[in-house]
Amino acid sequence: MRMIDIINKKRLGEALSDNEIKYFINGYTKGEIPDYQVSALLMAIMFRSMDETETAVLTYYMAHSGEMLDLSCVNGFKVDKHSTGGIGDKTSLICVPVAAACGVIVPKMSGRGLGFTGGTIDKLESIPGMNVALSKKQFIEAIEKIGLCITGQTGNLAPADKLLYALRDATDTIANIPLIASSIMSKKIAMGAEGIVLDVKYGNGAFMKTKEDAELLSKAMILIGEKVNRKTVAIISDMNEPLGNAIGNSIEVIEAIETLKGKGPEDLEKVSLEIASNMVALSRKKHAKEFDEIYEECYEVLHNGMALNKFKQMIYNQGGDFNVLDNYSLFGESKYVIPYKANKSGMIHNINALKIGNASCVLGAGRKSVADRIDYNAGIYLNCKSNTNVKAGDILATLYTNQDNVENALEFLKDAWYIE
Ligand code: URA
Repeated sequence: MRMIDIINKKRLGEALSDNEIKYFINGYTKGEIPDYQVSALLMAIMFRSMDETETAVLTYYMAHSGEMLDLSCVNGFKVDKHSTGGIGDKTSLICVPVAAACGVIVPKMSGRGLGFTGGTIDKLESIPGMNVALSKKQFIEAIEKIGLCITGQTGNLAPADKLLYALRDATDTIANIPLIASSIMSKKIAMGAEGIVLDVKYGNGAFMKTKEDAELLSKAMILIGEKVNRKTVAIISDMNEPLGNAIGNSIEVIEAIETLKGKGPEDLEKVSLEIASNMVALSRKKHAKEFDEIYEECYEVLHNGMALNKFKQMIYNQGGDFNVLDNYSLFGESKYVIPYKANKSGMIHNINALKIGNASCVLGAGRKSVADRIDYNAGIYLNCKSNTNVKAGDILATLYTNQDNVENALEFLKDAWYIE
């Protein structure tokens, strides 16, 4: 088999066979096929795309390109959750303990943030002492002992995705639904959970800009899940405005704790409960008609302290200081706390998620490149959300930073609010 023939076939719009996909994934993972040939193939896929069968086969070989985690030693139905990423998205910190408090086993490996989107691992790392680099053994022990764990990726899971993602990033071949679907699902499948709940976001602060594209991506991922015998469901959620009020790392953890105390922002509680209910429903193999009862149960554990207690167990089990739950000053403080004020009166119609995400990133809460260090206490707190009437001079947001110069952040913020 020759790579040039595979590129040619896709360039002409034909479907690749199982063997051809296997050849290019295995060859690229082993370093036997050069970047330039895989780049050419990726660009051909961008223009000609892939059908459902090709996408499922691609996912299968990407998932099997490295270690496949075997969680069968842990009793109970294991459900993983994945969000396609957004601004202020701290739902994992809420839905994971809620689902675990309802009896679901939740083995979760999360990523770090890059650019305007945050990462769950960075958020958790803002808790003093928290270990988010567990070994495979520690990860399995954690879910056996307390039923939940969130850690960074352990082991050599889906190495083909790591290589392909970096190449796609450098060759502008990210925005293709079969490539995105196979990238996300290969990691989830290698992780070993029997059920997968996907939160697919759309809007200016998300990968998918339109609801239609989010629906297509969801469908593609559900089909892949079905083909490899993993129960997969997806919810679609809006990311045209940040989720909740806090954007950053420690301030997002504080908002998640407040939500687990039943005092969180309505939009955040709602999406988190929807995801958690789907996780519980998958684990109990329940159908739509029982969904309302499950939602009630999730609401109950979020408001009676059981989910907060699960979160506390997780922090303790991973070496973190659980006193943060009652004493937020343990997160530390930033040097500057700057009010950002409205320059006109009117109703807030929208707060642009992307602009807020970029501003938070340049205040120190995010990374511009993988090697950058994060300032855990930097971020933006939205003092009010859309559909609020404000007067000129009212505080719209509070900026937290250790940087002496915030000009770049102000540049992003200057037209982030649509007030009329
Ligand atoms: N997230 C992923 O893991 N992969 C993609 O291709 C896009 C978003």
